[in-house]
Amino acid sequence: MTSQSHHQISIAEYDPTQNFINDDDIWHIINQSANPSATEVQAVLEKARSCDGLSLKDVAILLQNTDPHMDQELFTVAKEIKDTIYGNRIVLFAPLYVSNHCANRCTYCGFNEENKHLKRKTLNQQEIHNEVQILQDMGHKRVLAVYGEHPRNNVNAIVESIKTMYSAKDGRGGEIRRVNVNCAPMSIEDFKTLKTAAIGTYQCFQETYHRATYESVHIKGQKSDFLYRQYAMHRAMEAGIDDVGLGVLFGLYDHRFELLSMLTHVQRLEQDCGVGPHTISFPRIEPAHGSQLSTKPPYDVDDECFKRIVAITRLAVPYTGLIMSTRESAGLRKELLELGVSQISAGSCTAPGGYQASKEQNTDAEQFSIGEHRSVNDIIYELVTDSNSIPSFCTGCYRKGRTGDHFIGLAKKQFISKFCQPNALITFKEYLKDYADKKTQEAGNQLIERELAAMSPARARNVRNCLNRTSAGERDIYL
Ligand code: SAM
Ligand code: SF4
Repeated sequence: MTSQSHHQISIAEYDPTQNFINDDDIWHIINQSANPSATEVQAVLEKARSCDGLSLKDVAILLQNTDPHMDQELFTVAKEIKDTIYGNRIVLFAPLYVSNHCANRCTYCGFNEENKHLKRKTLNQQEIHNEVQILQDMGHKRVLAVYGEHPRNNVNAIVESIKTMYSAKDGRGGEIRRVNVNCAPMSIEDFKTLKTAAIGTYQCFQETYHRATYESVHIKGQKSDFLYRQYAMHRAMEAGIDDVGLGVLFGLYDHRFELLSMLTHVQRLEQDCGVGPHTISFPRIEPAHGSQLSTKPPYDVDDECFKRIVAITRLAVPYTGLIMSTRESAGLRKELLELGVSQISAGSCTAPGGYQASKEQNTDAEQFSIGEHRSVNDIIYELVTDSNSIPSFCTGCYRKGRTGDHFIGLAKKQFISKFCQPNALITFKEYLKDYADKKTQEAGNQLIERELAAMSPARARNVRNCLNRTSAGERDIYL
């Protein structure tokens, strides 16, 4: 099985009938690293500081540390790595639920086909257009398009919906410049078709890497095929999709097993496809109307444990974007930003047509309840004033062809500050001019000045020039 993407990623031979997670091996590493000493933990933290990632054993040691002082040290190192590689920018996006029609039966999800109380909805092109306009009016430039797994949501329908998202420009600079996609895995042929829609990242979460658990919670439909999902990213990369996003649905099985398995998945992609995932997401099971897991999940991950999972991931894969959604509360998201999260959703709805319907307080088509209800403007104000973060709407890398191995290569050389920091400031300036209230404008402009003052004179001159052009009305400037 060999093919080439447009970035000449060559895909090595792999056997899609082989589960690349060996449960015994994973448990062996966990058991071997139980009760680590402070010296062992300290040694792993020191190693992490060089930004070269961690081994599975290192990760197992950190996961099983019980010394609160060492956890504080872990959080400090996570922040250091985040600051070194990503600076203080934070990328914002919004999910756009296109369809909650689903033929699968995932016990934890409100969209599962058995849920007869859910109002089913697949947006038509006009409705997609309306949703996009609401998102544009909030200032969004990036969306994550989400679809249930259903014949209605075949690849052609998905491509058509994405084209509508890109074409819904409002003439005032409002436009979606990157559409990431979260939909069911496909054949290589269908992934090639999906790629024609110029998608950003293809996201698909394994949910759980523990096969027995996987099979017990995916009881009907295509998704019950564990291996078909496990090799989704291999197929996507064979089809030429360079940026892929992984995730575990925390709460289904032991978090230590899940994290080590997801990192094994990262290694497999690096080994077989030459490049690891562009992003990792951290969904945690939320109560969903009509799901069978509406009470406490079987392996509940509390906030403290969740923070450690995020921080350890930052140390383990320093160059991978970490995404946090509105599933988490504002307070916790703020803490997670410090620990290495690089992208957050803002102003989200989890129902098809939800942005329109939210004005009417209508939530009967929702996938799960969300924990964050503030507007984009309020979230941005807090990011700027409380966390000194630069909210970024940048979509430059993917449009300049800096994707896949190329993007990771740039990140590794710590060149992100050359593109990402300036582009964050320029797109933030656009936001301030076009969408922010007065209070946010003032705080935002002060932040921009502080950032310029900290740059080299040559770079500051270049960026200020772009900011001035933005102030004068030019839009979509990026390096
Ligand atoms: N149908 C596609 C699939 O299952 O991959 C894509 C859409 S599905 C709605 C996107 C993700 O939502 C799933 O991968 C799962 O991790 C997450 N999800 C489902 N139910 C959830 C719940 N109750 N709480 C939090 N996340 C949930
Ligand atoms: Fe359908 Fe995806 Fe929800 Fe499963 S997680 S029921 S496949 S929408």
